[in-house]
Amino acid sequence: MGFLKDKRVLIVGLASERSIAWGIAQAMHREGATIALTYQTERLQKRVERLGKEISSTINIPLDVASDAEIESCFDQLSGHWDGLDILVHSVGFAPRDQLTGGFTESITREGFQIAHDISAYSFAALAKSARPMMDGRNGALLTLSYLGAIRAIPNYNVMGPAKASLEAMVRFLASDLGPAGTRVNGISAGPIKTLAAAGISGFRSMLGHVAKVAPLRRNVGIEDVGNAAAFLCSDLAAGITGEILYVDGGYSSVGMSLD
Ligand code: NAD
Repeated sequence: MGFLKDKRVLIVGLASERSIAWGIAQAMHREGATIALTYQTERLQKRVERLGKEISSTINIPLDVASDAEIESCFDQLSGHWDGLDILVHSVGFAPRDQLTGGFTESITREGFQIAHDISAYSFAALAKSARPMMDGRNGALLTLSYLGAIRAIPNYNVMGPAKASLEAMVRFLASDLGPAGTRVNGISAGPIKTLAAAGISGFRSMLGHVAKVAPLRRNVGIEDVGNAAAFLCSDLAAGITGEILYVDGGYSSVGMSLD
């Protein structure tokens, strides 16, 4: 039996077979979890439902995290299916495309800042808040996805860097707040992976080439690597870990300099 047997999981952020959320869903399904999925738009509904069938998921809920009403409705609907929730995965990030190209001062705008922080960071707290009635007291876990841009300046990542820094701070504040209620909160800082969201970042392909050359493991990570780490972090095997950011990046973040 898998190490997530009897765990009920809500995964927010599935858009395609390339999504990190898909790697997480597959790993958690393999370990015995029962999974509910959300989809951001009607356009994504069919695809998410089709992927859901592959992991025996029968619950598909519309959710745009920019809307408080949709967040509330999501948990209303979920509580109609389940009397509790053990794991919530937040694999959501967004900034308008014009924010992800060129220099930092050149690209940043008040509106771009607000959108990036609202969708990529605040939404994690909003979901955690609305999930509490279903999660408190179950020894459950929340997980979000971050990137090295939270703590290092990365070309073209621009305003997403500060948004991820906010998200990582939120991991610590949520961990402190929800720990007494039995819920752990962690993040995974993943290396670059070619997904729909990543395609919006200028020069992304060069980033992949650079990491494969410099990272200690001399390769990029894939959604399977992140999925396996996520399954572990959200399971009882990680019962003593909270407020942590785990790097799943082939070791790239540990290297200070690389000589050709
Ligand atoms: P993806 O495009 O597959 O997933 C992004 C998801 O965010 C999509 O499912 C999209 O529908 C969802 N989303 C965006 N705005 C939303 C909204 N308003 N409401 C609801 N959902 C919304 O890309 P991904 O790379 O799998 O991204 C998942 C997470 O991983 C993001 O937080 C991203 O920043 C992070 N991450 C990605 C990489 C990478 O290189 N791909 C590296 C590190 C961290």
